[in-house]
Amino acid sequence: MSAPILALDRVTKRFGALEASRAVSLDLRPGEIHALIGPNGAGKSTLIAQITGALRPDAGTVSLEGRDITGLPTPARARLGLARTFQISQLAMGHTVLENAVLGAQGATGARLSLWRPILKDAALRAVAEAALQRVGLAEHAGAVTAELSHGQRRQLEVAVALTLAPRLFVMDEPMAGLGLEGTAAMTGLLDGLRAEAPILLVEHDMDAVFALADRITVLVAGEVIATGAPEEIRRNRDVRVAYLGE
Ligand code: ADP
Ligand code: MG
Repeated sequence: MSAPILALDRVTKRFGALEASRAVSLDLRPGEIHALIGPNGAGKSTLIAQITGALRPDAGTVSLEGRDITGLPTPARARLGLARTFQISQLAMGHTVLENAVLGAQGATGARLSLWRPILKDAALRAVAEAALQRVGLAEHAGAVTAELSHGQRRQLEVAVALTLAPRLFVMDEPMAGLGLEGTAAMTGLLDGLRAEAPILLVEHDMDAVFALADRITVLVAGEVIATGAPEEIRRNRDVRVAYLGE
């Protein structure tokens, strides 16, 4: 078995008397899509926040490629290749698709972000940005204003921006949310191919997408992992069916 890219070891987070993460351990291995599922309030977002650095665990550790990053701030984690796509869009809507991708590539260099047009003349940044747009299928929309894209295309652009970081892993919070059938199918195809470049920790409510894509699934209920396994194991796990799949 290959060494994990990301490892959580007994991560615990309390909000007053509430334990939102209760000694959660999970890992993300090269090439895999690992889905994190659970009912509302299970603690999925709290866990993601401790992975990205928005929240600090009360106990336990978060490791990236064997390095303890529990105390590192978010920008330092991004520089180590932890790419996150957001549920709420962070794109500059009035700027072009290419400008957004170039900004992503510029951010990855650690330079101060600038929306000045001259950044488009930086051939190296532009090459990274164009490759990322190509990868997600937006190359022919490079000159379009971002606000004019469909919701699904904006989601793809967010993935392209994440790709400009040369990510070691992706953390995705509900990439299918608000997408129609066609958008969901396009995103499913994109994520399916992306796992070969960097593994994906996927928080997603669309169970068809989860069962179609995930190599492993971890089920969180009330802050606690109740099961981790291959999709077929999760589907027939009694505790999961009772606690979550509503049977
Ligand atoms: P999920 O993303 O699985 O729906 P959350 O991680 O958002 O769950 O929330 C887990 C639990 O922690 C919930 O009971 C929620 O109300 C609580 N919670 C989340 N964030 C905070 C916070 N900043 N302060 C207090 N309670 C919180
Ligand atoms: Mg949530």
